[in-house]
Amino acid sequence: MHRTNTLPDESLASEVLPPLLVVIGAVSAMSFGLLLLAQWRASISPYLITGALVASVWASGSLFQRGRLRTAGVVISYALALLPICSIIPFGLLNNTLIYLSAIGVIAAGVLIAPDAPIRVARVALGTLMVLVVFPSIVGQERADLGPSLAVGMSMTALLLSAAALTWAAGYAIHGTIGWALETSSKSERREQLLRATQADLERTLRERDQLNDRLYKLTLDLETARAEAEAAYRSKASFMATMSHELRTPLNIIIGFSSAMIDHPEMYDGEPISEAISADIAEIRRSGQHLLGLINDILDLARVEVGRLELNKAAVPLVPLLDEMMRTASGLLKDRPVLLRREYVSPLPTVLVDDVRVRQVLLNLVSNACKFTSVGEISVGARAENYEVIVWVRDTGIGIADSDQTRIFNQFEQVESHDAKQHPGTGLGLSICRWLVELHGGRMWLESELGKGSIFSFTLPRVQPALNGAASKPPEQ
Ligand code: ADP
Repeated sequence: MHRTNTLPDESLASEVLPPLLVVIGAVSAMSFGLLLLAQWRASISPYLITGALVASVWASGSLFQRGRLRTAGVVISYALALLPICSIIPFGLLNNTLIYLSAIGVIAAGVLIAPDAPIRVARVALGTLMVLVVFPSIVGQERADLGPSLAVGMSMTALLLSAAALTWAAGYAIHGTIGWALETSSKSERREQLLRATQADLERTLRERDQLNDRLYKLTLDLETARAEAEAAYRSKASFMATMSHELRTPLNIIIGFSSAMIDHPEMYDGEPISEAISADIAEIRRSGQHLLGLINDILDLARVEVGRLELNKAAVPLVPLLDEMMRTASGLLKDRPVLLRREYVSPLPTVLVDDVRVRQVLLNLVSNACKFTSVGEISVGARAENYEVIVWVRDTGIGIADSDQTRIFNQFEQVESHDAKQHPGTGLGLSICRWLVELHGGRMWLESELGKGSIFSFTLPRVQPALNGAASKPPEQ
């Protein structure tokens, strides 16, 4: 345990000092009064001693009132320890019980000054006692007998030192306990402050969260309105496109029909010959008309898909004949180009639950793209059965598509800019329609390609699942 010279506990000392001063003041004033009543005249010293006690009570009291608690404690403790010893002056050493009262001063020092103060006070009191015993003549007393004087001296030493030791030990114990209590209370105060700070933080966070929630709610409402408006605009755009495309198809069919008739059956015009130049122009009118019709058909499909009006006529369709048909179309499109056609499917393949017109449309688009963009090498059409689906692909060794364009080309009206538009005419709608049609069947479409090396377009179609009762069933939702 560490030594300390501070007060063990200021509040304890300030609680103890005032009643102590009152009691001592009263006792010393009473003694003074009794001395006066008894008309004690043998010596003036009892008056001086009790007077000094009263004076030290007063001095200590006024120091206490000025807030100098420690000095007030020093004054009263030393007065209480030394003044009883001074009673030797009038009453001598032997048979003088008053001297034993100096133990009160020693004990008081422990409470009022510091835990180790009793030792110092006891040392001073014993020193004073020794001086008065050895040199009694200083205060006009005669030297007492050695034996009794020694006995008094020893019992005083024992009394004061044991009082000092006990007070010192008790003071340290009290000091330790009080220190522990103070530390605990300051710790819990710190903890409370921390708790209050955390609570304030929490409240602030909650407030911020509420504000954020409000903002989020408003944003959601705004978003909802914007989405509804966008959907309405989207729907009206799509239905406008559908109507327009429909209206355009009728005159366009007339243009194509008449130009075809003029080229294929010139005899219809009363045998009037058509010059080569006119015939070439009419052929151009027919070609452009057919291109325009293809574009309008694509737009019509797109619009139908967007407004959700494109309905599929699903049925169990055998895949092999469909793929064989595509092989024939590809060979017609390639004519005599040095491109090898490969078949990467083997019969039998499982039947698929699809709208065959739409699947034919998808395959035709992929095969005609492969033919458009492949001048040498090979083109293959393939298929493979999986658990619930069939994977179909069209592979070519054509010009390929750069990584950066691979997602883009599935968007409407997107084409690879580096591909020569004149050499490869198109609308940029085919692939987006293909992907929608595949997704409408519950399948997916993807592309693997490397620039300059070729491309593989693959998609899945749902298989017809044999049900337990023998009827055809659909695959699980994807
Ligand atoms: P388009 O009518 O222009 O062919 P698509 O949507 O079918 O429209 O194709 C979009 C673009 O993707 C094409 O213009 C072309 O640039 C690219 N593309 C499609 N298929 C291939 C392919 N097999 N090889 C290389 N590029 C291709």
